[in-house]
Amino acid sequence: MSRVYNFSAGPSALPVEVLEIARDEMLDWHGSGMSVMEMSHRSKWYDDIIKKAEADLRELMNIPSNYKVLFLQGGAYTQFAMVPMNLMKKGKADYVNTGAWSKKAISEARKYGKINVVASSEDETFTYIPELNPDTFSLDADYFYITTNNTIYGTRYTKLPETGNVPLVADMSSNILSEVYDVSKFGLIFAGAQKNMGPAGVVAVIIREDLISDTALEVPTMLQYKVQAENGSLFNTPPCYSIYICGLVYEWLKKLGGIPAMQKINEEKAAMLYDFLDNSSMFRGTVHKKDRSLMNIPFVTGNKDLDAKFVKEATENGLVNLKGHRSVGGMRASIYNAMPVEGVKKLIEFMKDFEVNNK
Ligand SMILES: *Cc1c(COP(=O)(O)O)cnc(C)c1O
Repeated sequence: MSRVYNFSAGPSALPVEVLEIARDEMLDWHGSGMSVMEMSHRSKWYDDIIKKAEADLRELMNIPSNYKVLFLQGGAYTQFAMVPMNLMKKGKADYVNTGAWSKKAISEARKYGKINVVASSEDETFTYIPELNPDTFSLDADYFYITTNNTIYGTRYTKLPETGNVPLVADMSSNILSEVYDVSKFGLIFAGAQKNMGPAGVVAVIIREDLISDTALEVPTMLQYKVQAENGSLFNTPPCYSIYICGLVYEWLKKLGGIPAMQKINEEKAAMLYDFLDNSSMFRGTVHKKDRSLMNIPFVTGNKDLDAKFVKEATENGLVNLKGHRSVGGMRASIYNAMPVEGVKKLIEFMKDFEVNNK
């Protein structure tokens, strides 16, 4: 068996230790005589698994007791609709457009109310986070929406907008658990698991209790936060196995020292790669320095053929999935929590050699 360094943006690498535990528990979970995939979601065993996962996520993110944690299906994409369906009461919301995922959230929300796009960085292909002027915020908005980390472009907010009494809603799909956030600053956080938290098939929603209310009769039962919250994410069959793996990832993170320790490692990994890019005569990063992501690092040589050659040769050397998103081109190294420091070092070594060999 040989494992590659997988720089995929998502689904992405999982910690080897987590995969090993899943392997060891595959046929017989804790003496149950069956796999987690085979057990009833109403069993005592599964109840332990989902409750432990929630408790560990609460501990890791220091989630206040007046927030509910939900494990839902439909991916982050379904949250683009669930957020307005459930939170739109007065019919107005503010959005910041920082890329493809924000745009999709905006167009979905437009089906449910009036959307005010307070700022956008589309003029420069989303290579920065726009300056936000609170004077342009709607005081009567039902919520204010941001994407904390922009997976495709490699930008992230380093400062959260001050939205006063208007609840802040965040799509944290690609940087949840990567750095410390004060959950109490948010009304709602959601994150698809398959970037930085586990396998595809589950999305975590962290929602302040006062935002959970009755929704219009037309809202499908499965898409009501209230129903999901009242049933502890077990209204119907949840994505049992994905939640179990997320739980193992949470345990792995706790053992490592929690999010502060993880953040430190992430900052070191990102700094190594940015440092190299800033001093390279061949490669350069594409994002404004102040807004650089710790998770997704796009870079280019400035020559399409050379970019393609780089991706090909990197793959041959066990450094895979470095091709940039089709809308941006070039390369992108996604270095989520599960990417070891060693993987980033290997990538930099390879880039150095490539630079020398292709002068
Ligand atoms: C990947 C991604 C999504 C889409 O996630 P799905 O689970 O595929 O719906 C949404 N937002 C961000 C920031 C992402 O990185």
